[in-house]
Amino acid sequence: MIGNGEKKDYDVTVIGGGPGGLPAAIASARNGAKTLLVERNGFLGGVAATGLPLLALYDRTGRQVVGGIADELVGRLESVGATFGGAIPCPIHNSITPVNPFWLRIVAMEMCERAGVDLLFSTGIDDVCTRDGRITGVRLSSKSRKFEMGTRVLIDATGDGTAASLAGADYEMGSNNDGKVQPVSLVFSLGNVDIDEVLRYLKAHPETFANPETYGVHYSLEYFLNSKSFYFTGFGEFIEEARRSGEFDIPRDRVIFAKQPNRNEVVVNATRVLDIDPTDPFSMSRAEVETHRQVRILFNFFKKYCPGFSDVFLANIACGTYARESRRIVGIKTMTHEHVDQGLIPEDSIALAGYNVDVHTGHGIVLQPSEHAIGVPYGCLVSGNIGGLLTSGRCISVEPYPLGLTRAMGTCFAVGEAAGTAAALSVESGDALADLDPAAVRTNLQQNGAIVSAPAEVTAKSR
Ligand SMILES: Cc1cc2nc3c(=O)[nH]c(=O)nc-3n(C[C@H](O)[C@H](O)[C@H](O)COP(=O)(O)OP(=O)(O)OC[C@H]3O[C@@H](n4cnc5c(N)ncnc54)[C@H](O)[C@@H]3O)c2cc1C
Repeated sequence: MIGNGEKKDYDVTVIGGGPGGLPAAIASARNGAKTLLVERNGFLGGVAATGLPLLALYDRTGRQVVGGIADELVGRLESVGATFGGAIPCPIHNSITPVNPFWLRIVAMEMCERAGVDLLFSTGIDDVCTRDGRITGVRLSSKSRKFEMGTRVLIDATGDGTAASLAGADYEMGSNNDGKVQPVSLVFSLGNVDIDEVLRYLKAHPETFANPETYGVHYSLEYFLNSKSFYFTGFGEFIEEARRSGEFDIPRDRVIFAKQPNRNEVVVNATRVLDIDPTDPFSMSRAEVETHRQVRILFNFFKKYCPGFSDVFLANIACGTYARESRRIVGIKTMTHEHVDQGLIPEDSIALAGYNVDVHTGHGIVLQPSEHAIGVPYGCLVSGNIGGLLTSGRCISVEPYPLGLTRAMGTCFAVGEAAGTAAALSVESGDALADLDPAAVRTNLQQNGAIVSAPAEVTAKSR
């Protein structure tokens, strides 16, 4: 931990300690770079600290596609009973890894401390210093004071691209059609759910988890009955009933919840506010008020209408409303719609994205299953116009459609590990980020257990 009043110079500074930033800081420090991680909360994890299951550790083929630091984190969580271990196959989400969010916070902090990352909590970024188009430092402010840190590489893992935009990096935001981003949501958990009663209802009414034909993939009853955990989407029939009674006014046609490692607890992903600009504090504040109102609506809805929920209590509300989509920094490469459609895993891939394209719109979701994991090229992390700037997590350089795939937390972890590794290699070699050989990043990642290559049958198909 850095001391009070010190002004320091770092090799690598990471802003944001979520799935994109946490592994970036650990990988950077483990590779020998003097590393600072700045986080505005008093804990690590970002959306992973809400309790939502990690997606994309395994792809639709059942192959593990994210290893390295994410794997280590899951292993450490398993050792304290904070996950069911590894990943559970899911017909819709490919795989799910449920986690206890509080243990995730503890384990993440231990991993950073052990790696030698300097942690700076309750601190945000005010500005980024540049000289001749290159990063030289960051201006930060905590509750009580403002200060400056020198840095050779800056990794923006804020999810919003805040640091990169302050540096003057080119970015894009919103869909190609209307410029809007996906809706924002506040995640919460319910305790004392009677899971057996939920399962009895699913057995008697499998139509409740029938997905739109457009998904092209379907749940099976066996998945719910035989898995240690499940990520459920349904109860549309109860929403219709509650809406008719004036007791449900949230713009969605189904609720989503996952069974947690804590007994009889589920994490709920069902609040939704449309037309919010996540980069505008006034807009996000409106969203906070609305999502908190919706938690009450949903709590009452579950209790009154949904089998198994009559005696629930509100077990947790995440520390804030999160955005699925925000600024996307323009890199020296951009992952395109065609890249996903063709299922490419190029030779400069530094991470594999094993989820499906999943875009929340209006009342529903557009889901496009991916046959197998898709490669994220190194250049998607490297700012196209600011030297010394990398992005990680959901603000990397991708078009809106591929963002629906790369935004899954497992992929953000893999991308983060690559960002931290590349940052440290650039510092060590003196090579500009844009000149760094992706092969060197891949080799280092693979030596540390990360997965970056396609299996032979996919390589053959891509040729
Ligand atoms: C409602 C919702 C549901 C989702 N469901 C799932 C799911 O079930 N499974 C899944 O795998 N993925 C899910 N996703 C997607 C996934 O959670 C995100 O895409 C992923 O967490 C992005 O990681 P990140 O590190 O880029 O951003 P975040 O997880 O948002 O982390 C960013 C971190 O940066 C910090 N930060 C932000 N700004 C600053 C600043 N200025 N200064 C300092 N710190 C800052 C934040 O406090 C936070 O800790 C969901 C996303 C949302 C919003």
